[in-house]
Amino acid sequence: MSGSLTAELTEVERDRILAKSVLFAPPPARLADGRRDLVGLSRAELAAELAEIGEKPFRAKQLWHWIYHQGVTDFSRMSSIARPLQEKLAERFVIGRPEAATVQTSEDATRKFLFRFRDGQEAETVYIPDREEDRGAVCISSQVGCTLSCRFCHTGTQALVRNLGAAEIVGQFMAARDAYGEWPSPKGETPRLLSTIVLMGMGEPLYNYENVAKAMTIVMDNEGIALSRRRITLSTSGVVPMVERCGSELGVNLAVSLHAVRDELRDELVPLNRKYPIAELIAACRRYPAASNARRITFEYIMLRGVNDTPADARELVRLIAGIPAKVNLIPFNPWPGSRFEVSTKAAIDRFAGIVMDAGFSSPVRSPRGQDILAACGQLRTASRRSRDEGESRRSRPAA
Ligand code: SAH
Ligand code: SF4
Repeated sequence: MSGSLTAELTEVERDRILAKSVLFAPPPARLADGRRDLVGLSRAELAAELAEIGEKPFRAKQLWHWIYHQGVTDFSRMSSIARPLQEKLAERFVIGRPEAATVQTSEDATRKFLFRFRDGQEAETVYIPDREEDRGAVCISSQVGCTLSCRFCHTGTQALVRNLGAAEIVGQFMAARDAYGEWPSPKGETPRLLSTIVLMGMGEPLYNYENVAKAMTIVMDNEGIALSRRRITLSTSGVVPMVERCGSELGVNLAVSLHAVRDELRDELVPLNRKYPIAELIAACRRYPAASNARRITFEYIMLRGVNDTPADARELVRLIAGIPAKVNLIPFNPWPGSRFEVSTKAAIDRFAGIVMDAGFSSPVRSPRGQDILAACGQLRTASRRSRDEGESRRSRPAA
């Protein structure tokens, strides 16, 4: 009896998840003209597409090299492929890129892209140059909007529109490389400007795990972009059941958006905490398969004036993470219109950082970058939608 009840519930739950993922699914990989986008396919899927048009498996290897190592988007530039096959490929396939709807470059060289996808949806990607070295990180979005409504986050005010597909996730990085002329991919670990990926843009990557995992597998493939898993950091607000899977399957660095050390406060700031409270989250971090002294877990902690920034908070933080190979990133809150918070004072941040450091954890204060263009993550998309809506209402207004 109870067995059948469980089975029933599971089926309901499964239907619910399925309905959700269909609802939030990215657009189909086929264009309106019937051609298929090759970006975002796994190696096996690429080989299957080619087999369907009678091509042998070695062609998939060849194409992979052109797409992900050389960064070529035009079949006619694939010099190792004879002209008739180039034409046949161009009739059936495309090598797509998201379109840059807006590009803004800050005085400190931080560059923010608003990428528009085939169905018109948009997401943000930011290139953040390293101050000392000639390299930098690309901050990538995993969803359009977010379901999680963290109180301090501008993206959280935008209802989730949909998940990004693997092609759209890897496409953000590829389009950013296009903008910097950074093809072909470097062999090994040669420093390049776009040499690191942080999944810290819009959305919760562990709520779109399949697409994120597929995109990161493509990015890590040695015969293509070939980024080491050490050069990829995934940031999560704490989707506990997915954390271990992420570590064992992808082995990327983990960043955890902690932001509060007591459940009552974290329940408010990061509502997902009501589902996965602090103790469970910290336990999952202790078990994270890809963490070591050489590859520490980053705890992100946003500094909110008078909310979470006391010495007692700092001491509790240190107690919580004791024994975890970790560092703590202190992030001064970045205000946005309508936000209810203020950034902590410099004195409070310094005091907090000192306590964490004295306990043996590195505790850098993330300096605000690209403030003249950035504002809080998620704002560019809102601004773009607003100006488009205004444009549309202007257009629909009768001429005077
Ligand atoms: N959803 C994931 C990844 C995207 S958010 C997560 O929450 O981890 C990436 C980081 O930006 C998070 O640490 C988040 O807390 C931080 N962030 C969001 N809004 C911010 C703001 N207004 N000022 C500073 N950091 C912010
Ligand atoms: Fe979503 Fe992360 Fe923003 Fe929270 S902080 S609303 S999880 S994007």
